[in-house]
Parts: sequence; structure tokens; C-alpha cells
Amino acid sequence: MRSLRFDNRFIHELPGDAEQGSRVRQVLGALYSRVEPTPVAAPEVVAWSREMAATLGLSEDELRSPAYAEVLGGNALLEGMQPYAANYGGHQFGVWADQLGDGRAISLGEVLDGQGRRWELQLKGAGPTPYSRGADGRAVLRSSIREFLCSEAMHHLGVPTTRALSLVVTGDTVVRDMFYDGHPQAEPGAIVCRVAPSFIRFGNFELPAARGDIDLLRRLVDFTIARDYPELALQGEPLYAEWFAQVCERTAVMVAHWMRVGFVHGVMNTDNMSILGLTIDYGPYGWIDNFDPDWTPNTTDAGRRRYRFGQQPNVAWWNLSRLAMALAPLFADAAPSLQAGLDRYVAAYTQADRANTAAKLGLSTCRDSDLELMRDLHALLADAEVDMTLFFRGLGELDPAEESLASLHDAFYDDARRVQFEPAFASWLARYAARVAEDPSAAAQRRERMRAANPRYVLRNYLAQEAIDRATQGDYEGIRELLEVMRRPYDDQPGREHYAQRRPAWAINKAGCSMLSCSS
Ligand code: AMP
Ligand code: MG
Repeated sequence: MRSLRFDNRFIHELPGDAEQGSRVRQVLGALYSRVEPTPVAAPEVVAWSREMAATLGLSEDELRSPAYAEVLGGNALLEGMQPYAANYGGHQFGVWADQLGDGRAISLGEVLDGQGRRWELQLKGAGPTPYSRGADGRAVLRSSIREFLCSEAMHHLGVPTTRALSLVVTGDTVVRDMFYDGHPQAEPGAIVCRVAPSFIRFGNFELPAARGDIDLLRRLVDFTIARDYPELALQGEPLYAEWFAQVCERTAVMVAHWMRVGFVHGVMNTDNMSILGLTIDYGPYGWIDNFDPDWTPNTTDAGRRRYRFGQQPNVAWWNLSRLAMALAPLFADAAPSLQAGLDRYVAAYTQADRANTAAKLGLSTCRDSDLELMRDLHALLADAEVDMTLFFRGLGELDPAEESLASLHDAFYDDARRVQFEPAFASWLARYAARVAEDPSAAAQRRERMRAANPRYVLRNYLAQEAIDRATQGDYEGIRELLEVMRRPYDDQPGREHYAQRRPAWAINKAGCSMLSCSS
């Protein structure tokens, strides 16, 4: 077995828990605890990302080998792996939750790839840790399939995200009460090997700050800047301020991508916000079918809808403001420096939103009036129950001067509404046609721009659920097929049209398709 090159800076340079093992405890003065994965019965690698494997220098034969199944299932360690669980806190649904930590994720170490890039490998569902808080440290197959597929789908869509190397079924069962309604069931267990340059979250900084452990906070900040933001060439408070501003900027770019492709994270707690601006922790996420800014897939949040689609840019700002509060003790005069960072968020988001508007409409620049054009379109899409992905993709294919919706009929979920809103769409299309006529781009250029911004294929909730249903019967081919489609989301893929269809009627109220709980 070829060895990966490990360079475990996080645990070598930062203070850890004096106690080892998984006894549940409050961990003070330390940023992680050393703990090993708990072995599983019969690990089998059922899917992997060929791009991630290639990046790490792993061959297909290796990933197929029983030896690697043992490693990716948590039964064996490769030379250089030093497993640990990270200690962090977080604001959950707006409320400070104190210590959370990796309750079921265990990091194996940091790999350096052939180009010197750093990749932390982390097993999600690898067994109990000091942060498991009475839970089992495991993950079920359905949620592992969702995380595996979505990480890779997002990557191919061009959205900053953590990645997934492999999906392992463990041969063990895991008991979950999927809807918290007193009906626990045994489900197949699974483990995803997640990969990212860093899994550090806002909550890693919030916890030492909340405990008044400013030395520990400063050590983590210095470490994060040195390892993950080496390009920042400042010192002292200006360095901290610029770093925070960069976190703000990256977060803005990430959320703007979510809004472009119709992704709803579902649980934007501060422990689920990456310090690198990566989409992290795929739980009860979902994709917009009919355009609805008020939609959330998360049944746990169905009442307040804190994390609904249209709210995501504001929530990200609020989360950054929690991070700013945590960092404040590092500044003599914190307010102006941190406010500058938050302002950077607003500026970066505004800019990204304008770029999205232009790209999604195929325009070479975004005028102020184009924002209005987009707002009006959004209102129409919501009122008329129109599929976001199909509409924008289709808009790029039609000749706006024709002012006819005929080629977009498939995007409508309700015929009566389509007929009702036809005149409104016709007048919107007339405005759009006039705007396109003023744009210097040729028709082909407009189309190209739109094809690059408006995916044909997204990981619709019902598609993931179909793959899950097949996998639950022991057929993992559906996962692999779906991954293949999602590798080229902007290409038309002849023969795969059915993966681009709007949500079928059967999926409207089916568990896993429109409603998901945090139980995973
Ligand atoms: P999440 O909602 O997935 O972001 O998880 C919130 C917190 O609960 C994190 O600290 C997780 O590690 C922990 N957690 C979630 N599920 C489990 C589980 N099955 N076993 C142990 N800890 C868990
Ligand atoms: Mg989490």
C-alpha cells in the first residue's frame, strides 16, 4: 500500500486534551482530544470520488482493496495518521450552545498532496468521542449518501465546499428516530471520509472566547492564519483585522454561490460555518425546485424558518458578527476593525450578487435596473410556482425577442398558474428582450454566459432519495450514476435528461424529498 504523506500541524502545534479516549467530558484549555475510531463489522467502500482520489494520489485499485476499506471504515490506521476530535462550540438557531465538538467526526491527519496542498482527512460516523454528549458517534447510510454526493456535486458546480473521498457501509446498524416521533428504527450505518484543507469552524474560536481563555483563542487564530492564510503579510491587529475581513469575503462568495444554484444549507449554526468559507456539514440541506425564498428543508426549523433559502445571506452576516464578538478580545479597539470586516462582507456579497444577476441573465454587466429586473422575475417565479433550475437554463436557450414561454412549459408545476401568469411573464420577457438588445454581447455569448451560470443538473432532493432507496436495498449503482451526472452539471448530457426533470408529484411530501430532520 502506497503511503500518504502526513504533516499533522493542527495537533503538533496546538494544545490538546491531557486525557485520551472517548469518555464524555468538558474539555478546557485544549483545542482537541486524541481519540481513535471505533471499529465496525464489515466495512465496504461502495463509492468514491475519482477527482479527490487522484488529488491525493490514490489509485482505483487501492480504493477497491480490502485494506483501504479497513482504513476508510475506521478499523485500521495508515502510518502517519494521528486521530483526534476537535473541540468547538457554537450558536445553534441563534442560541449559544457552549461546548459541542466533533461528536462523531474523527480527523485522521493532514495529507500533503503532490503539489504540496494540505488535505485533512476526516471520518464522519467513526464512533464516540469526548464530544458525543450521549449520542452514538455514528451516521446512517441515508445521510452519508447525501453528504457524499452533495459535497462532490457542489464542487463540480464551482461552489466552495468540503469534499468527500469515499462512502463506506459499515455492516453495522444504527438506530434512529427519523422524525423524532417515538418510532426508532435500525438503519444501515455508513462512514464518509471528508476532505478539506481545514475543518476549523467559527465555533472553534467562539468556545475559548466564551470561556475567557484568550491565550488559547490567540493561539488558534495565529495558527489558522499561519497555516491557512499564509498570504497575509501584516502583523498584530492589522493582521487579525485583515484576516477577519478575508473570512467575511470568502463567506460572502460562498453564500452568493448557494443563491445562484438554489442550495439551502438548512442548519447554518456557527459550528457549521467554515473558517475557509467552504460549505460544510451537509445535514438536512435541500435544493430549490419551485422557486420559494421561504423554503427550508429542515423540519426542525419549520416553525421559524430561520435558515430558509432567502435568509441565508443575512444569517451568514449574523454568524460572522458572532465570530467578530469572539475575536474582539484580540483588539485594543475592536469595533472599527471588526466592523470593517463585516462591511467587507456586505460589499463582497453585493458584488457577487450583481455578478450572479448579470451571469444568470446573460448580460455583460449588471446595471442597477437589472437588479430590479431580477427581483421582479423572482417574484414571478415564486407566485407562479416555477422551477428555478429549469427556468434559468431554459431562459438561456430561448430567443427573448420571441417573447414566448412555450419552450419553458416544463418549468411550471401548476398549469392553472402558468396560464394565469402568462401575461405577466410575457411583459417580463419583453423587458428582458429590450435589455438584451442593449447589451453588446452576441446571442451566442449570452447563451454561453448563461450556460456557465445556470446548471442543467443539480442534486434535487428526490434524486438523492431515489439513490438512497436503491442503496437501502443493497444496490449502490444509483449513487455512482448520480455522481457521474453531477460531475458535469453545466453540460447537456444526452440520455440523462430525466436527471434534469422537475420534482415529480410523488416527491412533494415524501420524507427525504422535501422534508428532512436533523436525525442522521
Ligand atoms: P450537526 O447538527 O450535525 O452540526 O451536529 C451538532 C453537534 O452534534 C456536533 O457537535 C455533532 O458532532 C453532534 N452530533 C450529531 N450527531 C451525533 C451523533 N450521532 N453522535 C455524536 N454526536 C453527534
Ligand atoms: Mg455540525
